[in-house]
Amino acid sequence: MDPEQTLQEAHERILACKDANALKDIEREYVGKKGVVASMLATIPSLAPEQRKAHGQKANALKQAITKAVAERQAEFETAKLDQARRADDFDPTLPPPRARRGSLHPITQVTRELEDLFVSMGYEVLDGPEVELDHYNFEALNITKDHPARDSQDTFYCDEEGHLVLRTHTSPVQIRAMEKRKPPFRVIAPGRVFRQETTDASHDHTFYQMEGLVVGDNISVAHLIGAMKTLLRGIFGRDLDVRLRPGHFPFVEPGFELDARCPFCDDGCSVCKKTTWIELLPCGLIHPNVLRAGGIDPERWSGFAFGLGLSRLVMLRHNIDDVRHLLDGDLRFLEQF
Ligand SMILES: [Zn+2]
Repeated sequence: MDPEQTLQEAHERILACKDANALKDIEREYVGKKGVVASMLATIPSLAPEQRKAHGQKANALKQAITKAVAERQAEFETAKLDQARRADDFDPTLPPPRARRGSLHPITQVTRELEDLFVSMGYEVLDGPEVELDHYNFEALNITKDHPARDSQDTFYCDEEGHLVLRTHTSPVQIRAMEKRKPPFRVIAPGRVFRQETTDASHDHTFYQMEGLVVGDNISVAHLIGAMKTLLRGIFGRDLDVRLRPGHFPFVEPGFELDARCPFCDDGCSVCKKTTWIELLPCGLIHPNVLRAGGIDPERWSGFAFGLGLSRLVMLRHNIDDVRHLLDGDLRFLEQF
């Protein structure tokens, strides 16, 4: 058998064949296990030793040439098939591709954005602040003295040996940063992430979200504070809710209050309000003169109020979530519900 003639013949048949199945048959006939090339190789042991090498090389060259010709013809068939599909009536290149799977915003992001919109509509400016904060801003300037229990290392993550840097334990340091850069009157909110060194359980986590609010102006009173909080509640729950103030002690306000709102989920007691019909919502109060002074503002001339809204807690209330740890553990079964 003459390899050149065999190749010539194979080429002609490959070019002449009409479809992929016929091509496969030809391929098998030449380079398959019992094909022409295989039988050429099988004759090698019967040849004289000096002929063996040349014969083997010819067989391999034949195999390569045929395999290449088959692959080229196969590609032609595939191109033709695509062309045909494109020419068919039901091919519409303007159709959109299949939809990608879309995620959704985290419930904390959703509530943060809603509240930002609400406060911006009331003339507030939205501020950001560092999460790794100087001791001065996190404690000192907020009238939290060196011996205050909030400074205990049980509650605070310290970032350096000397205790100058902390992971902020509340969003209140943004108050001081805001006062330093602004002249009254002004209104700001500062949403963000805060950290406490806590043993975690269903209602405590080491990382959670707050929104600080601060208003400084002429003759700001508790009445202004209550008015702003009622607007806030209307924005969150979509209707008016009664509020009450209980005295609360926080070093950076004087007087300080705990603000409770009427339970939005019941009239006569439920599991959310623990049968009291009131829910604890936020600490607030009139800004302590020492804090105004620390921010470079004259407490004789200006006054103001501040509040700290727990965003994580608000999201839990709104969606009736029973464990704060769900919010940050990244479980898609939880997140896909929002
Ligand atoms: Zn209730």
